[in-house]
Amino acid sequence: MRALIFRGPNDYSVEEKPVPQIGEGEVLLKIIACGLCGTDVKVFGNGHRAITPPRTTGHEIVGVVEDSKSGKAGVAKGDKVLVVAPIGCMKCNFCLRGEQNICPVVVERVHAFGYDTDGGFAEYMRVPKDAADQGVLVKIPETAIPLTLLAVAEPLACVLNGQEKLRIGPDDVVVVIGAGPIGSLHVVAARAQGAKKIILADIDSAKLARAAVSHADVSIDSSKENLAERVRKETDGRGADVVIVAAPAPSLQTEAIEMAAVRARVSFFAGLAKGTASPLIDTNKIHYWEIEVYGAFGACRKQYEKAMQLILARPADFQTLITHIMPLEDIKKAVELMKAGQTIKVVITP
Ligand SMILES: [Zn+2]
Ligand SMILES: [Zn+2]
Repeated sequence: MRALIFRGPNDYSVEEKPVPQIGEGEVLLKIIACGLCGTDVKVFGNGHRAITPPRTTGHEIVGVVEDSKSGKAGVAKGDKVLVVAPIGCMKCNFCLRGEQNICPVVVERVHAFGYDTDGGFAEYMRVPKDAADQGVLVKIPETAIPLTLLAVAEPLACVLNGQEKLRIGPDDVVVVIGAGPIGSLHVVAARAQGAKKIILADIDSAKLARAAVSHADVSIDSSKENLAERVRKETDGRGADVVIVAAPAPSLQTEAIEMAAVRARVSFFAGLAKGTASPLIDTNKIHYWEIEVYGAFGACRKQYEKAMQLILARPADFQTLITHIMPLEDIKKAVELMKAGQTIKVVITP
C-alpha cells in the first residue's frame, strides 16, 4: 500500500509499505479521508516528542472497516467510521469516565493515532487491541453527504471540548482570536450554540478574508486597530462574554483577559510553543470580575459523536471550510499550500 512515512524533521515521503496484518482483537481500516492539521505540518518540520520515526502520521481519520477481529469495537466489515485519536490507559479516573483525552498517557506521551501509533495518511490503518477495546471507532450512519466532510469531525470535536466549558448562549458576544481552520470552526460551533454576536479577529487580513465563509458577524483586522478597544465598542463598553484564543501568541492571552466582561468565560484554546515565557495576565481582574479561564486539549468519544451529528445536521457550514481535497501523493504540495496560508482546511484522500 501507499503510506506517508515520517523519518525525521523535513524528511518524509509517500512510500510503498505492506498492508498491516491484524491480530486477535484488532481492526483493519481502509482510509477514506484524513485531514491535514497544523500539528502535522509542525511535526513534518520539527518532529514531535511522542513520535519515534519511522511513523505514519495523520489523526483526523475517516475510514471503512476492511476486516475486524474485535468483539468489542462494535463494528463490522463495511461500516464507515470516525477514529477517536487519543488512546487512554483505561485505568485512570478520566478513562473510566470516558474522557481519554486527558488521561495521563495521552497528555504526557500522546498515546494516539498519528503520534505514537500509525495514523491515517495511508491506504490502510491497523487499530490496535487497546484502542479497539475502548471504543475508538464511531460508526457513521448512512448519509448522502460526502464522507470527506467528516474528516473535520476531529478538529470540530476538539473545538466542542473547548466550548462545552464556555456555556455559550443567546445572550453572549463571543470573540474568536485567530482566523485559521480552528478559529473558523469555533465561529461555526458558536453559531450553532445560538451566540448573539460573533467577532472574529486576526492580524492577517488575507486569512480573515478567507475565513469570511464561517460567517462571523464582525471581522477585525487586529494589525490595524486595537482589538480590546474595538470589542468594548462592539459591546457598549461591557466587554466580551466569551473569548476564545485560537492563535499561539502569549500576548493574545493577556488581551483576552483585557477584553473580557464581568463573569466572562475565556478559553486558552491554542497551546503556546514549548519554552514560551508565560504572559503577564491581570489576575486581579479575573478575581474581582469572576472571570473563568479554561484550557482545552483534544477531545473524547462523546465529543466526536456530537461533532459528527453537527456536521450531518449542517453540512453546508462545514463544506465551505474545506478549501482543498488532495490525494496522498500530493501531500507535500498540500503542506506547502498550508504554509503559504492559501488554505482553510485541507483533506487528504489516500
Ligand atoms: Zn489536528
Ligand atoms: Zn487513563
